Amino acid sequence: MFLSGLFRLSLSSLFCLSFAVSVSAEPTRECVARESGSTGSWWYEQQPIMGTQVQVELWHANQATACGLIAQVMAEMHRINQAMSPYIESSLLSRMNAGAAHQPVVVGKELFDLIALSLDWSERTQGAFDVTYASVGRYYDYRNNKKPASDEIADNIEGIDYRHISLNRADFSVKYLHDAVYVDLGGIAKGYAVDRGAQILRQAGITQAMVSAGGDSRIIGDRLGEPWVVGVRHPRKAGENVAVLPLIDASVSTSGDYERYFERDGVRYHHIIDPVTGDSAREVTSVTIIGADATTTDALSTSVFVMGIKRGLSLINGMTNIDAVIVGSDGRMYLSRSLLELSSAH
Ligand code: AMP
Ligand code: MG
Repeated sequence: MFLSGLFRLSLSSLFCLSFAVSVSAEPTRECVARESGSTGSWWYEQQPIMGTQVQVELWHANQATACGLIAQVMAEMHRINQAMSPYIESSLLSRMNAGAAHQPVVVGKELFDLIALSLDWSERTQGAFDVTYASVGRYYDYRNNKKPASDEIADNIEGIDYRHISLNRADFSVKYLHDAVYVDLGGIAKGYAVDRGAQILRQAGITQAMVSAGGDSRIIGDRLGEPWVVGVRHPRKAGENVAVLPLIDASVSTSGDYERYFERDGVRYHHIIDPVTGDSAREVTSVTIIGADATTTDALSTSVFVMGIKRGLSLINGMTNIDAVIVGSDGRMYLSRSLLELSSAH
């Protein structure tokens, strides 16, 4: 359980309330002190990386050390983006997508391991999490309100199947067993990058920090004796939260259908794709997962979004130290078992 004791006190009063909690201030590309005390300051920087806003905040007495560490975290995020972005033609991922249907492509240990982990999640989620979703998913263009044409779906739907990815650990190479396969790690790479950033800070001895990339955050320690407070935003009302989570030493990821979407004929087309249909998953509007590391919470938030309420909760309730807050398309909130127990105790 990663929620602090305060969660108990907060639950009955804060769940379901419209409550604006902001963990970020003005965007800044420079490392600045946001608050200072007698033993140090909260140092903060925000940068657009990986198609989202990356934020790092940590407590430290020394500006040069603090800002140097934040710069290292940002550099690591840029490095991962350069390797794993499908939008950068020279990225390792793009080279894999261009070649792996023809011959094995050597991708190196880091990308290999993340793909292997993604395949594990595919097994554990009965295929709901599937990085080959992009075989069809790549034909959505959310900025230009474009969904795949029916022939684009017909020609590529068979490419969606994680079992088409063949891994060879001997040389860290990847081969696609079907011509239509296209891989996108957008459902897990941000969480991975956040974990890597947090690891840099922990190894440097930082005991109080937060690293976040869009909907994926990792919290190290507390906030000077208090929990960090992370808001779960209302999927349909900007500026409102459906819950606030006081967290210590935890990760939290939210997947929502409001992040990248367009509407056509009253139907919302958004970026989380059901691998069975190649269409957006529509049983829920947001899923928040709380757990120990952000790679896990990121993969699970996307997975549970696809699985829906019943299957999603059953998966989460079968795991230890993982919790979920789901908002259904009926507007109701659904909690994992231990959160439910906490909330009914108040
Ligand atoms: P998140 O905001 O963490 O849920 O990530 C959403 C991203 O995950 C999308 O933008 C896609 O890149 C990717 N994605 C969409 N559907 C799936 C799926 N079924 N399995 C794995 N990744 C997916
Ligand atoms: Mg995710």
